[in-house]
Amino acid sequence: MSVLVYTESEQGTFKKTALEVASYAKAVANQLGTSVTAITINTDDASALGDYGVDKVLNVSNAQLESFNANGYAEAIKQAAEKEAAKVVVISSSANSKYLAPLLAVGLNAGYASNVIEAPTSTSPFTVKRTAFTNKAFEVSQINTDVKIIGVSNNSFGLVENSGSASTEDFSPSIPDSGVKVESVDKATDKVSIADADIVVSGGRGLKGPENWGMVEELADVLGAATACSKPVSDLGWRPHSEHVGQTGKPVASNLYIAIGISGAIQHLAGINASKVKVVINTDEEAPFFKAADYGVVGDAFEVVPQLIEKLKTFKAQQ
Ligand SMILES: Cc1cc2nc3c(=O)[nH]c(=O)nc-3n(C[C@H](O)[C@H](O)[C@H](O)COP(=O)(O)OP(=O)(O)OC[C@H]3O[C@@H](n4cnc5c(N)ncnc54)[C@H](O)[C@@H]3O)c2cc1C
Repeated sequence: MSVLVYTESEQGTFKKTALEVASYAKAVANQLGTSVTAITINTDDASALGDYGVDKVLNVSNAQLESFNANGYAEAIKQAAEKEAAKVVVISSSANSKYLAPLLAVGLNAGYASNVIEAPTSTSPFTVKRTAFTNKAFEVSQINTDVKIIGVSNNSFGLVENSGSASTEDFSPSIPDSGVKVESVDKATDKVSIADADIVVSGGRGLKGPENWGMVEELADVLGAATACSKPVSDLGWRPHSEHVGQTGKPVASNLYIAIGISGAIQHLAGINASKVKVVINTDEEAPFFKAADYGVVGDAFEVVPQLIEKLKTFKAQQ
């Protein structure tokens, strides 16, 4: 009986969340006194997982799973869990993992807790803390089924290194035809995606127009960040809808979220509450964002942001 973790990759390379869920799985395995097995799907090199506590890797190489499909991926993970007699399955809180989790839960007759933010506080009964109401509240849940599925909230647990090495085994689950074939995938951008980003630089209506986004992109480039925006900005067509964050947009769980010219309406904050450190730049010291932020600059973005870029460039040049 081991803890099984599904470590996601994109085009053969692990997503950042893969190492975080591996770290989480190791913490659970330590509590249960067992080992960690990871399942990887069409991943080029799984050796990094050993550094994050994984003992064994089940490596699936399957043309049917080249593009994500929830049924096929859930089936592969289910068969891996059965093979390992896993009582705990750990997945991320990515959009894809949230799609497959209910199918996996049905397949394994398991209870599923999403948005979990800490290692279990108890393993008997199995008790986890999770966020609820778009990160406005915490909920403590017990999972009382024999098999448990934990969806770890992005950036909540962090990466925990464990010196070790993982053995690798080829694993060939039988995947039924899902009836849907992905013909092609056109990505909106090849830049850092908002969901995977460590740092997000976001702009609001305070930036006045799309012609002023050069400094937002430059700041994002210097920081290696993804760019995002408030809803009105994408509604106005200043930025693509793929950048809209908030209650009706994408959720952001970055380590650093920089909001430029964004008022901090409740619907915006609902999507970024899970970010660790929030910085706001706004001319209006009464803007609601200042109450939610860890650091605030009361000032004109057109003066503050270019200075910030210069300072960061100087700092980086000195490293
Ligand atoms: C059902 C519903 C769902 C919604 N979902 C979302 C959502 O998912 N995401 C979202 O973002 N919104 C959402 N909204 C809209 C939300 O209520 C706000 O209207 C929106 O977030 C405001 O966007 P903003 O802060 O960019 O613009 P504004 O409210 O216009 O704020 C602009 C800010 O820029 C500041 N500013 C102006 N000039 C400068 C300058 N030169 N330098 C620095 N700061 C400056 C101003 O002081 C102001 O605080 C939703 C609304 C509803 C009703």
